[in-house]
Amino acid sequence: MEGKDYMNIFVLNCGSSSLKFQLINIENEEVIANGLVEKISESISDFKYYTKNKVELEIKMEIPDHKNAIQLVLERLISSEHGVINDFDDIDIVGHRVVHAGEKFSGSVLITKEVINALKENIKLAPLHNPANIVGIEASKKLMPNTPDVGIFDTAFHQSMPKESYLYALPYQWYQENGVRRYGFHGTSHKYVTERGAELLKKDYDSLKIISCHLGNGASIAAVDQGRVIDTSMGFTPLEGLVMGTRPGDFDPGIISYIMQERNLSIEEIDEILNKESGVLALSGISNDFREISEAAEAGNDRAQLALDIFCRRVKKYIGAYAALLGGVDLLIFTAGIGENAVNIRAKILAELEYFGIIIDPEKNNIQGKEAKISAKTSIVDVYVIPTNEELVIAREAKKVIEQEIETIIKDILK
Ligand code: AMP
Repeated sequence: MEGKDYMNIFVLNCGSSSLKFQLINIENEEVIANGLVEKISESISDFKYYTKNKVELEIKMEIPDHKNAIQLVLERLISSEHGVINDFDDIDIVGHRVVHAGEKFSGSVLITKEVINALKENIKLAPLHNPANIVGIEASKKLMPNTPDVGIFDTAFHQSMPKESYLYALPYQWYQENGVRRYGFHGTSHKYVTERGAELLKKDYDSLKIISCHLGNGASIAAVDQGRVIDTSMGFTPLEGLVMGTRPGDFDPGIISYIMQERNLSIEEIDEILNKESGVLALSGISNDFREISEAAEAGNDRAQLALDIFCRRVKKYIGAYAALLGGVDLLIFTAGIGENAVNIRAKILAELEYFGIIIDPEKNNIQGKEAKISAKTSIVDVYVIPTNEELVIAREAKKVIEQEIETIIKDILK
């Protein structure tokens, strides 16, 4: 790292069958290369690779596992045809998105053997996500053994929640002995947009009451009071809270034992239905994609309209609840695929909230995918669309962790 006027951070986000990556020069926060691999381990996978917004590759090929996917990406980064760096030594740090840190980590950490073991212990808390994250970490350690890896956790930002927010009214031993509590997810996204929101308002982050709506295929909402999360809608798992693409959000847990008996469902089957076959997909009977549902609703499909109405109603209900918990709101933020792009859905959620001091300006709201204030001049609450940038948070955090590690080493030497 010494003597260079740049520090490149390779950000890796491994999902169960996908991998997203960005190579970021953290000195000027420029994205040097980015892309994604989807359908890993299926017969044909998709590989997309871009450099500074130029499409270099969009191809289909066989990619058997995550290690092969990472290797493929790294080879492209140093290739003579599409490369952007000379060799792997030009990657200073790898920043990994990790979904679940349990209560173990409230901040980002340098990944050691002990950390990997702790993540493995947390697999039972996030069986759908953590295994892929661990595979990504192990593959990156094998391919770049001399490069430090930093873990940035989706749950970490929410660790500032007070006990009255994160405890469920369930047997206390379930919390003490089994880790049953609210953890919250999308932490890096809520962190990025709330901090960015404070910057846009030119106000001190620690002075603001903010509600952040991350509305994507997975959706969650967070209340941030003076820099601390005081509540968030996802819970022990990402199932709780808002209605999502394929997850139901809040519903009566009594339904589970009833329907398992009625329809003779196994634990695996009910888990699959709640994670992959519920939400607006189930309500609309069409799709989990809000673009398709909106089109169908406009064409007169009643169930599609109902799916949109129920989704918006739930978001509105949480905004009201969080406004009450916060004792007022300075800033309301929309982000992620739906929050950034779905003009009609934002308008529907924000309709008739004048009582809460929220007034939308329909013209300003008519934007997609860019930072914008969408509230009217007369609105007491400022409402913004802020495109999320989880990769940038991961890169910034990774740099911070390594700088702190270096500082500690120097202090130890000088002792
Ligand atoms: P994300 O999980 O943040 O990538 O968001 C994905 C979701 O964003 C998809 O389910 C889409 O339904 C939704 N989305 C993306 N673009 C639009 C748009 N222009 N209008 C409505 N929904 C959109």
